[in-house]
Amino acid sequence: MTSGTPATPSPTSRGTAVVTGASSGIGAATARRLAADGFAVVAAARRRERLDELAATVPGVRAVTLDVTSDDSVAELVASLNDVAVLVNNAGGALGTERVADAAADDWRWMYEVNVLGTLRVTQALLPALRAGAGGHVVMVGSIAGHLVYEGGGGYTAAKHAETALAETLRLELNGQPVRVTEVAPGMVHTEEFSLTRLRGDQAAADKVYEGVEQPLVADDIADVISFAVTRPAHVNVDLLVVKPIAQAAPYKVARGPIG
Ligand code: NAP
Repeated sequence: MTSGTPATPSPTSRGTAVVTGASSGIGAATARRLAADGFAVVAAARRRERLDELAATVPGVRAVTLDVTSDDSVAELVASLNDVAVLVNNAGGALGTERVADAAADDWRWMYEVNVLGTLRVTQALLPALRAGAGGHVVMVGSIAGHLVYEGGGGYTAAKHAETALAETLRLELNGQPVRVTEVAPGMVHTEEFSLTRLRGDQAAADKVYEGVEQPLVADDIADVISFAVTRPAHVNVDLLVVKPIAQAAPYKVARGPIG
C-alpha cells in the first residue's frame, strides 16, 4: 500500500451492524451495502428463507429470525450479540389508504406495533450492546410521512411522526454518550413490497403508485444514504436526511412523465 492510500476495510473491521426488516427492499439493500462497507451484518426479519438466501450470497451477512413485535424474539436476537456498532431500525410499513373517518383501528395498531413499538423494543434491547464498544449508532428509517401529512395517510403519518419523535428524544437522552442517532426519511422508493402491503396485495394498484414516475428512488439509493451516515467519523452526527426522487416535491406532489 502506498503511503496516504486508505486501507480497504477487512470484512467485519467496522464492527457489527444489525438491520431489521432485511428480507426485502431497503433493509436487504442496506444489509448488502453495509457488508460491502466492512460491517459484519446481522440481517433480521421474519421470513428466514429470504434472509438465508441473502446470507448465502453476500459475504459478511448472517441471518437471524426476528419479529420486532415480540419481546421474546427481540430477546433472542440480543442474546446472540455482544457489542453492536450500528442498529438500523428499518422494519416497518404502511397499511391502508382510508381516510380517518373510515380507518380501521387494527390497521393503525399494526402500523404502530411495527414502526413505533418495534423500533422502541429493538432499540431499548440493543442499547447496552451499542454502548459496549467504541461507539454506537442508531439509524431510524422514518419517512417524509414523519414530517408531513396527507389525506388517506393518517395512520402511517401518525406512526412515522412518532418514530421521528422517538429519534429526536433518544438523541437528547443520549447526549454525552458515544451513541449517534440518525433519522433517514425517504420519499417515494420503488420497492417490491411497500405499496403491495399498503394496498393489501392489489398488485395493479401498487404498480399505479409508480406509474409514469420517471425515476422513483430505489432501495439502493436509501442504502447509500445510510452508508454515508454511518461511515462519517465518530464525532459527526447526521441528525436527519430527507431524500426524495427529483420527481417528488411532497407526498402528494409527484411529476408523472418525463422530467425536463
Ligand atoms: P418492504 O419491502 O415492505 O420491507 C419491509 C420489511 O419490514 C420487510 O423486510 C419485512 O420483513 C419487515 N417487517 C415487517 N414486519 C416485521 C416484523 N414484525 N418484524 C420484523 N420485520 C418486519 O418495505 P421498504 O419499502 O423496504 O420499507 C422499509 C422501511 O422504509 C419501512 O420502515 C418503511 O416505512 C420505510 N419507507 C419506505 C418508503 C417506500 O416508498 N418504500 C418510503 C419511506 C419510508 P418480514 O415480512 O420478512 O418480517
